[in-house]
Amino acid sequence: MDVAEFELWSKRIAEWSAEYRETLRDRSVRPNVAPGETLAQIPASPPDDGTGFSEIFAEFARLIPDAMTHWQHPRFFAYFPANAALPSVLAEQIVSTIAAQCMLWQTSPAATELETRMIDWLRQAMGLPDGWRGVIQDSASSATLSAVLTMRERALDFKGIHTGLSGHAAPRIYASAQAHSSVDKAIWVAGIGQDNLVKIPTRSDFGMDPEALRAAIAEDRRKGLQPAGIILCVGGTGIGACDPVAAILDIAREEDLYTHVDAAWAGSAMICPEFRPYWDGVEHADSIVFNPHKWLGAQFDCSVQFLKDPTDQLKTLTLRPDYLETPGFEDVVNYSEWTIPLGRRFRALKLWFLIRYYGLDGLRQRIRNHIAWAKDAERLIGETEGLEITTPCSFSLFSFACSDGDDATAALLERINTDGRTYLTQTRHQGRSVIRFQVGQFDCTRQDVLDGIAAVRALHAG
Ligand SMILES: *Cc1c(COP(=O)(O)O)cnc(C)c1O
Repeated sequence: MDVAEFELWSKRIAEWSAEYRETLRDRSVRPNVAPGETLAQIPASPPDDGTGFSEIFAEFARLIPDAMTHWQHPRFFAYFPANAALPSVLAEQIVSTIAAQCMLWQTSPAATELETRMIDWLRQAMGLPDGWRGVIQDSASSATLSAVLTMRERALDFKGIHTGLSGHAAPRIYASAQAHSSVDKAIWVAGIGQDNLVKIPTRSDFGMDPEALRAAIAEDRRKGLQPAGIILCVGGTGIGACDPVAAILDIAREEDLYTHVDAAWAGSAMICPEFRPYWDGVEHADSIVFNPHKWLGAQFDCSVQFLKDPTDQLKTLTLRPDYLETPGFEDVVNYSEWTIPLGRRFRALKLWFLIRYYGLDGLRQRIRNHIAWAKDAERLIGETEGLEITTPCSFSLFSFACSDGDDATAALLERINTDGRTYLTQTRHQGRSVIRFQVGQFDCTRQDVLDGIAAVRALHAG
């Protein structure tokens, strides 16, 4: 493709993109397609001959958009949001054109330094202390794996990276029963093993029970096991559970355990000072992850890991073969040494565009609106005969169920998602099947929330 044709198609795709975003409300949030429908329409073998771009684009327009679930739809109330605010989409267009590998300062000087600055902007925006540093990762899963590896190596006196894990007491890691599945997976991948992830029971508010944690650590020490770290949850995925951060971090300091706070979704709300009591005491943690690609509005992928002191993570993950040396610039930051993959996308640009375009006040107002509208939605569902609130709003997430039991709840959810006016997902809570409702799509309005709730009530009544 020559540059003139690229320019032509960039403009056409920009027009298509504007129209797509403009008309999202007219689409069904989840498409009505059966498994295999798209697959059946794509030739089974790759072509030997090239094709003109107009034909390729026409085929894309015919096959793909109508068979997608529309995450940027303003009535998307499922899972958590994966917002892509338009200034961050523009940043990604530029990033994909420049297509730099941001593994070392030398391979991406401006990207590296913008990343340093954006991390510090967000640190200030969230009220974290001076001196904390951080890195942009692809996902919270990767940040949590980095923290788990650091916990492991710190407990093994940084010998595991050389000798492997056999011959050492098993490192033990503690998390609440509400912890995200990415914690379990990190434990598997780190070679620690699921049996060494100790799930601590929760209190009546679904936060980790500090006394149960203390007892579990003491029991492990008695058995000669090696307590290594604690993973805390602020805004759990199921129902938005929050651990009592200050109390857990007190125990961690007494026990000299490394700590990681998973605030992948709810962390964005901490740009508003009034929500910071949810993680009171967090300045005593070692590592925090939050995903600007969820609630804040930065196009996926963009996950920020803050570190009080990066030394232990760098000791765990830095590998510097000769071909990655930067002679003459030994003091620069090379962010690939902070993370697992070597190659890194230029993710800081979309944060820069997003924060500058809306300002922190614009971003804060969205979060405040979402939380207020979620409370309106919770009240309306609670007032509906035959429906009951099963967990109250935590930030902007609540859950509800049919009073008639799990089968009725599952049937209602299926009707809602087939109808397409809105899209919701389920979880299990206290042995019960419940429907989650979270407000967080970047462009959603109060009317979208009311329309979503009206659809739920109509489908429940009908
Ligand atoms: C979404 C989420 C994750 C996983 O995030 P990825 O960036 O997709 O890996 C982990 N923990 C919590 C609490 C989440 O909400």
